[in-house]
Amino acid sequence: MSSQDPTHPSSLSAYWMPFTANRNFKAAPRMLVSAEGMHYRDDAGNTILDGTAGLWCVPLGHAHPKIVSAVQKSVATLDYAPSFQLGHPSAFELAERLKAYTGNRFGNVFYTGSGSEAVDTALKIALAYHRAKGNATRTRLIGRERGYHGVGFGGMSVGGIGGNRKTFSTALLPGVDHLPHTHNLEKNAFTKGEPEYGAHLADELERLVTLHDASNIAAVIVEPVAGSTGVLIPPKGYLKRLREICTKHGILLIFDEVITGFGRLGTPFASDYFDVEPDIFTTAKGLTNGVVPMGAVFVKPEIHDAFMNGPDGIELFHGYTYSGHPLACAAGLASLEVFQTEGVLENAQAVADYFQEAAHALRGLPHVIDVRTIGLIAGIELASIPGRVGARAYDAFVRAFNDGILIRVTGDIIALSPPLIINKQQIDELFGKLAAILKTLA
Ligand code: PMP
Repeated sequence: MSSQDPTHPSSLSAYWMPFTANRNFKAAPRMLVSAEGMHYRDDAGNTILDGTAGLWCVPLGHAHPKIVSAVQKSVATLDYAPSFQLGHPSAFELAERLKAYTGNRFGNVFYTGSGSEAVDTALKIALAYHRAKGNATRTRLIGRERGYHGVGFGGMSVGGIGGNRKTFSTALLPGVDHLPHTHNLEKNAFTKGEPEYGAHLADELERLVTLHDASNIAAVIVEPVAGSTGVLIPPKGYLKRLREICTKHGILLIFDEVITGFGRLGTPFASDYFDVEPDIFTTAKGLTNGVVPMGAVFVKPEIHDAFMNGPDGIELFHGYTYSGHPLACAAGLASLEVFQTEGVLENAQAVADYFQEAAHALRGLPHVIDVRTIGLIAGIELASIPGRVGARAYDAFVRAFNDGILIRVTGDIIALSPPLIINKQQIDELFGKLAAILKTLA
């Protein structure tokens, strides 16, 4: 790799990579050059089985012909349309279809360009909603330890990952509290599905209400299943309890479904799986199958109504140049059609148990201190090397890539979230190769 030559197209000097140890990458680059179905191909011609659906964002597999052709058609017809005061048909059509995909339980959709923007939009909608209802003091926000809600100042503030926050600590939003996380290895290790222990942790919300008074609290935001922070699955009854407390005190409940939305648990949304309905939820990633960046915030009809019934003029002073981008809408419409016509959720449901069993079969291998699974998500937690948290899992990641499987690591947790079209043979390959790596890991 000619990383020293700045004129070479593959020079590694100019691009500042996100969430990457740039110096390490430049010493040993891994380049993906094409993708199809369940596989990537790297610049040396190796085929790599995608065990992570990109970054959780390719549920339908790569380069689906219907999505490719929809985007190609769109770019040749309407490349861009201003998003303020003007519309274009596919933005409205996609919103209608998405609304229907929620079973019409949610009334309106606000488009963003990413998951981070969707989170910040949801938080702003929550504050503006309370103001529109005459409750302007409801401004406090409540997140959760170990939560990940993207990298905007709002999302970072309600997020609970110390490493992401420490550099920016004095610039975080004021008036934010965090519920305790629900991870408990002593009580819940090696759980399939929802763990038994921990529903009572939702009661911490009552404590915050007592402390601040409900009249000052706008919203609670949680990921139904936390992904980026290492696959944390909600204890049985926990989300229902959060819902009850929010309802009791007029606090909005926001689900961040950026990774769980669009089939990850075998249902359209995690709220369907857990049978708990938020007031607002965020999505991104699978919305367009990762093909064009896009996020979307869904709100209950009564939230939108509060804005419609307020004073005349612009109801929510908020939006993005790329809200409802024509190419993203084309990708979204085509993706939704594939979801609904190609048995994608049915496959996810059919292979989920096989996938989860394969993950739990890693129990007993060296360093494996937990395996937790739900839907097509598996978290495999490794014991950390003292003083070198993350080193062991990173080693597994590099070796996995060299062995032709893409896994994701966060700290010392391996997170697997393959495209929903995965078959049993590919599940065998993924876990077979991973088991072999774990057996020989230092
Ligand atoms: N929320 C959650 C739950 C996420 O997992 C992510 C991304 N992994 C985000 C928000 C941020 O999305 P993006 O990277 O598209 O900004």
